[in-house]
Amino acid sequence: MADQHQLLVDGAWVDPAAGEHFDTVDPATGEVLASVAAAGADDVDRAVTAARRAFDGGAWGLAVPERERAEKLFALATLLRRDVDELARLETLDCGKPLEDARWDVEEAAFMFEYYAGWATKITGDIPPVGPEALSLVVKEPVGVCGLIVPWNYPLLMACQKVAPALAAGCTVVLKPAEQTPLTALALGRLSIEAGLPPGVLNVVTGTGPAAGEPLVTHRGVDKISFTGSKAVGQHIMRLCADDLKRVTLELGGKSPNIVFADADLSEAVPGTALGIFGNQGEVCSAGSRIFVERSVYDDVLGGLVDEARAVTLGSGLDPDVTMGPLVSALQRERVEGYIGLGKQQGARLAYEGTRPDHPALAGGFFVPPTVFETDSLDLTIAREEIFGPVATVVPFDDVDQVTRMANDTEYGLAAAIWTRDIGKAFAAAKAVRAGVVWVNDSQPAPSEASWGGFKQSGIGRELGPYGLEAFLESKQIYVKLA
Ligand code: ADP
Repeated sequence: MADQHQLLVDGAWVDPAAGEHFDTVDPATGEVLASVAAAGADDVDRAVTAARRAFDGGAWGLAVPERERAEKLFALATLLRRDVDELARLETLDCGKPLEDARWDVEEAAFMFEYYAGWATKITGDIPPVGPEALSLVVKEPVGVCGLIVPWNYPLLMACQKVAPALAAGCTVVLKPAEQTPLTALALGRLSIEAGLPPGVLNVVTGTGPAAGEPLVTHRGVDKISFTGSKAVGQHIMRLCADDLKRVTLELGGKSPNIVFADADLSEAVPGTALGIFGNQGEVCSAGSRIFVERSVYDDVLGGLVDEARAVTLGSGLDPDVTMGPLVSALQRERVEGYIGLGKQQGARLAYEGTRPDHPALAGGFFVPPTVFETDSLDLTIAREEIFGPVATVVPFDDVDQVTRMANDTEYGLAAAIWTRDIGKAFAAAKAVRAGVVWVNDSQPAPSEASWGGFKQSGIGRELGPYGLEAFLESKQIYVKLA
């Protein structure tokens, strides 16, 4: 029988109030990995109450010396590094990605705690001049109890991207992992106990979006929601947050442009472009899914991209030879296959379509092979909507003005990649593209020390670096009359 998991509430593992569970499956085989507690509103209420008590009662937050907060976060980072092999394996089993990628995720998750542990002792305010007769101190305080709702494409990393800055800021949290990939969040919960986090500081509730996520969003005891996921759910959450003016940070989708100019070093640009759309099975919010190529190098880049797609080895992420795993779920496979069907139907030219792995053990897996479409029209659904799968749409262009217009012709604004040897052209394009992250001669790096987040409908607010910390702080002005 598969392992059965509980909820982490107030430092203890507890059964869900309604006694219900759901299965999480290995997307490479469709086999059940574990049975996971299905939290409902009662469980969320218990978790929020515990987080509230830890925050208001002084177990965490302003009442705890910053050094002590930092020590606990460093301890958690050390435990994540100790267990990197086990956690990477768990991540691959639960979400499908190749083991090497999962290992990178876990190491970066550990670094996230180290980075923000350092920040815990460096949160300072300001003393703005307000004249000779008064002193005005602007201090930073934790926003309070935070509901953290994370997706399934980087389960542990996305969780830590929120948990680490929230705890460093002094907030207490209720973490709700995606129902498709709850296992590493539960492991993080176990490690948090070992690291000595006081009860209630980090609570983990597993369950579906509507049953466990929504009660967290609407709970009056929660001060802030930080969400990463689809645009539709982000919009819904923001509407719900309006009811009690809850603070909200949203990291949503994208339809990011990847622009290859004719003067680019194609030996870098082609594999970088391929990584941008095929990396992590294309299940990446910043995937470079619209690939714009200057006409004089169009055939070379398209040919190179098709070669890269052909070189992909699709299979179980646990197999060391595999470079692309299955999609996370049958539903996600259905969605992506739906977009591939639409691409064909609406007249995009199919430059390459791979094949599924034929190994019988993988027959029940949710595989979608890499696919490359060509089109001149940005009106096609595949050129407009986020697909979240390994489906590239390649479009030719003739000059800088045209390509920046096309790059910005989207409701999204998360990321963009620009490939050129001309530094002037790179900066001009970087300034013209309306996106929160612009890569020049690279694709997808997201250093935890920098900033991450979208323009337009890709989200609200920023994560990572000092910006990610700021998202969990409130400013308070203390005005003292001196005269
Ligand atoms: P996807 O459609 O790709 O699964 P979602 O945006 O639905 O992406 O999921 C991201 C996260 O949001 C998951 O943890 C999911 O459970 C959660 N979620 C989904 N619907 C809701 C909702 N109505 N309220 C709160 N959280 C939700």
